[in-house]
Amino acid sequence: MRYEGVLTKMRTELLETVQYYLVWDHDFINMNQLLDKKLSINFLRFECLNCGLQKKIFRQGYCYDCFNSIPQAGNWVISPELSKAHLDEEDRDLEFEKRSQLQPHVVYLANSSDVKVGVTRKTQIPTRWIDQGAHEAIEIVEVPNRYLAGITEVALKDHVSDKTNWRKMLTNEVLDLNLQEEREKLKEFIPAEAKDFYLANSKELEIKFPVLQFPKKIKTLNLAKNPFYEGVLKGIKAQYLIFEDGTVFNVRGHEGFVVEMNIF
Ligand SMILES: [Zn+2]
Repeated sequence: MRYEGVLTKMRTELLETVQYYLVWDHDFINMNQLLDKKLSINFLRFECLNCGLQKKIFRQGYCYDCFNSIPQAGNWVISPELSKAHLDEEDRDLEFEKRSQLQPHVVYLANSSDVKVGVTRKTQIPTRWIDQGAHEAIEIVEVPNRYLAGITEVALKDHVSDKTNWRKMLTNEVLDLNLQEEREKLKEFIPAEAKDFYLANSKELEIKFPVLQFPKKIKTLNLAKNPFYEGVLKGIKAQYLIFEDGTVFNVRGHEGFVVEMNIF
């Protein structure tokens, strides 16, 4: 079977095991069904997810010009504490920023390799945790806007990591921790503005990924450098396809790449 189209991050569904879907223009593939099958990926050209032009992808599926101008790629996306919509202040497009920032946000603890703190819109739970490859996660506070979530994250970062070691995540060198206990330890560091939003009763969520075999050593596939790859799919975790020979392919890292995929 042959598919062709521009890559976007895999859609997910939290069932007993996470289900992954690769979405094409008029079709989609349930990637779980490709486990143990051979597939090939052939990079054809770039296609910016915003302007649709054949321009080199800079970040997040966007060309350089789009990344530096569209509201979806403002600095407050990566650094929520820079959010200003609650002050009625525009970054790139105030209406867009109000819609995105002035809605419930959650600060959470997720364990994908080590425990890290993160921020997401409430509607993105558990999608965000799945995308990070977290095998367990828990909410800390739910606040009414992105700014409050951002300053809470900044305060907690002094006491817990905000990075994932993706190599450990993909080789499954991970520990099961009691995140409720970890959350209790952080409670005192929540800033005063957000203290009332502490979620004392939320429970830890366990997430199971479809992986038949974790690699011992990993090699990353970068289609811009190596435009063709073929291998047997052995697992999917976070936004990575994991192959039998230890190759891992970050689908999200290749948004905006037009590829041909063959399934044998
Ligand atoms: Zn563009």
